[in-house]
Amino acid sequence: MASFPSIHAGQGGRGKGSQVLAAVTRSPGEMVVRDVTGPGRARAGHVIVRPERVGICGSDFHLFSGDVGALSGSRDFYPRIQGHEVSAIVEDPGDGEVAAGERVAILPLLPCGRCYPCRIGRPNVCPAFRLVGVHLDGGLAERLEVPAGLVFGTADLDPDSACFVEPASVAVHALARGRLRAGEQVVVFGAGPIGLATLVAATHAGARVLSVDPVPGRRDLAKRLGAEVVAWGSQPELADLTREWTGGDGPPLIVETSGEAGVLAQAIEMAPSAGRVVVVSLSSGTVPLRSGAFPEKEIDVIGSSCATAEDFAAAIRLVVANRAAIAHVFSHHFPLARAAEAFEFAMNRPPDAIKIVVTVN
Ligand SMILES: [Zn+2]
Ligand SMILES: [Zn+2]
Repeated sequence: MASFPSIHAGQGGRGKGSQVLAAVTRSPGEMVVRDVTGPGRARAGHVIVRPERVGICGSDFHLFSGDVGALSGSRDFYPRIQGHEVSAIVEDPGDGEVAAGERVAILPLLPCGRCYPCRIGRPNVCPAFRLVGVHLDGGLAERLEVPAGLVFGTADLDPDSACFVEPASVAVHALARGRLRAGEQVVVFGAGPIGLATLVAATHAGARVLSVDPVPGRRDLAKRLGAEVVAWGSQPELADLTREWTGGDGPPLIVETSGEAGVLAQAIEMAPSAGRVVVVSLSSGTVPLRSGAFPEKEIDVIGSSCATAEDFAAAIRLVVANRAAIAHVFSHHFPLARAAEAFEFAMNRPPDAIKIVVTVN
């Protein structure tokens, strides 16, 4: 087993801490907000923070609903304090590099450090990684102890923007995987939080973006966040539109964030020869692919998962530079006491919801 220390909010460090309010997912579908014993003083190599905002993410629903087969590892998931998109104020910096009172964002990923991807510098796909809010307790508690290496200062960002650093880091990583170049035309499928973050990151890097989403309100938002074109339509319509938009070739980079498995087949046909397709969304669907398209066009179809520490640092700079645009993604706020309601609300995917945020402190 990995030697990383536990960060259960309910386990004291040097002695147990005082009671804190937390949203505990006790079993699938059962989240209760109650007092738990918070961490004591920061243990060596750890920082104690007071979470401010926690963004709810589609990946949270796997654990919340009991679909743990979709999560890596066969470990004990319940009870768990969820929340991996966290902004927080440092309370006890321990021997870490952050200062008390500083606002931080938390990289949620603890890799094993020993496996093949870890050894080659790709810890974000460590098969034994542990995620804050999934395998370890997360941000839906008034106080939280985290390993110091996961805590990043966020300069003068506001709490909402700082909790968007984590989804932004996923977008930064996806575009790094896709080898985005300035001036390139990129098609982004999906205008949910990750799709919008990908749009902002791509335009920030000097690319031009066509955003595809079936929901009119999301297309409007994509436009406000810098999409050159927004679209929805049948597969042939979108193929024609993107070919026309790129002067006949087709988009050299396509990023799939929508979660619709069929988009992969669509993107492979839409990509020009020598094009790249990056798949970010975690879909459990299957879809037939025309295998001849791969050699015929010599396309790269690339997976992208989570983010590295370098991506996370880049995401902070991205959010700092684009905070005014990103402010439009926060559609709903719920207090910690109503966290269960926030999860139920988010799972129903109301069309006007983009990023739903729990206000913890
Ligand atoms: Zn997430
Ligand atoms: Zn590993």
